[in-house]
Amino acid sequence: MKATITLLPGDGIGPEVIEQSAKLLQTVASRFGHDFTFNEAMIGGIAIDKTGNPLPDETLRLGEQSDAILMGAVGLPKYDAAPIRPEQGLLKIRKHFGLFANLRPVKAYPVLADFAPLKAHLLEGVDMLFVRELTGGIYFGERQEQGDGNSAYDTELYTVPEVERVAHVAFRAAALRRKKVTSVDKANVLAAMRLWRKTVVKVHEDYNDITLEHVLVDSCAMHLLTRPASFDVLVASNMFGDILSDEASVLAGSLGMLPSASLGDGRFGLYEPVHGSAPDIAGQGKANPIGTILSAAMLLRYSLALETEAQAIENAVEAALATGARTADIAGGGPWLSTSEFAQEVITRL
Ligand code: NAD
Repeated sequence: MKATITLLPGDGIGPEVIEQSAKLLQTVASRFGHDFTFNEAMIGGIAIDKTGNPLPDETLRLGEQSDAILMGAVGLPKYDAAPIRPEQGLLKIRKHFGLFANLRPVKAYPVLADFAPLKAHLLEGVDMLFVRELTGGIYFGERQEQGDGNSAYDTELYTVPEVERVAHVAFRAAALRRKKVTSVDKANVLAAMRLWRKTVVKVHEDYNDITLEHVLVDSCAMHLLTRPASFDVLVASNMFGDILSDEASVLAGSLGMLPSASLGDGRFGLYEPVHGSAPDIAGQGKANPIGTILSAAMLLRYSLALETEAQAIENAVEAALATGARTADIAGGGPWLSTSEFAQEVITRL
């Protein structure tokens, strides 16, 4: 298959992890007989340095002409207090492409159990996917801090189409996995969450072979720690998904391991590791490339429908870890490989 992928390395460790992931995608292309074209464009601090704009028009133009975007990370300490910040590029690009669903898989690798805060037996088989609604709900609802400074309010508002489209993403994702969706809500208290539950139930009618369960957000917070392996796909509102996906992320052992995808209506998507630009380790070969490598696997799965190739990458990561290959963050003081050496271990196992 022919595909065009735009690479946005960004700042800090972004260019280091993107370089390795592009190499890996190139290996997938030659190994499976595909023709991938790579464009590279600027976002974040580097784009401000060069153009004054964290998301130059040229970046949007290249993105529009591609099947998917693979991004590193944005953020530079020198812009922390600046009026134009690198992170604005990220919010703008999500908005420009109408990306309303944020997918964050969390998998616990048995060989890394010592790095996670739960007992090893609870982590066995943990492999879940959060689908978080990204453009609605309380983060975008009407809000007001009252003039007297004594009260303030925020509004949780969802419409049926907003819930329907994110529910479809969750059910379709579950069809590629273990065929179970857990919908998280607070339907016992909140009206918007009653609409959420009713709408998810209705959308479920289109997916006979997927099991649907409803869990209240407070119970879900507990179950993520007491029975994390029981979850497959979880679908949640913007705020609940934000909080719970961060809670679940610690089960993987390191921030450097976690991928993400932001999807809209069609197949186009923006893929990026969950971590930031990690300025404390930039340029030292200490960045764990797994989060970006697994984001590249998600790109193949969701934007290019190349499931076999996506799984080949995921298996290669697991195989590399099983041989004892480690990056600095997951070496526990033992010997570790540089970013490029670790990526080479994965590439070899493809
Ligand atoms: P961070 O994720 O960059 O780093 C947090 C800690 O995790 C650091 O100690 C870092 O060294 C470590 N870490 C992160 N990724 C790693 C990897 N791949 N391998 C090994 N260790 C890794 O978060 P932060 O320090 O709070 O933020 C730094 C900058 O990144 C800020 O400017 C922030 O705004 C930005 N940021 C960007 C994104 C994004 O691009 N999506 C997300 C979060 C933060």
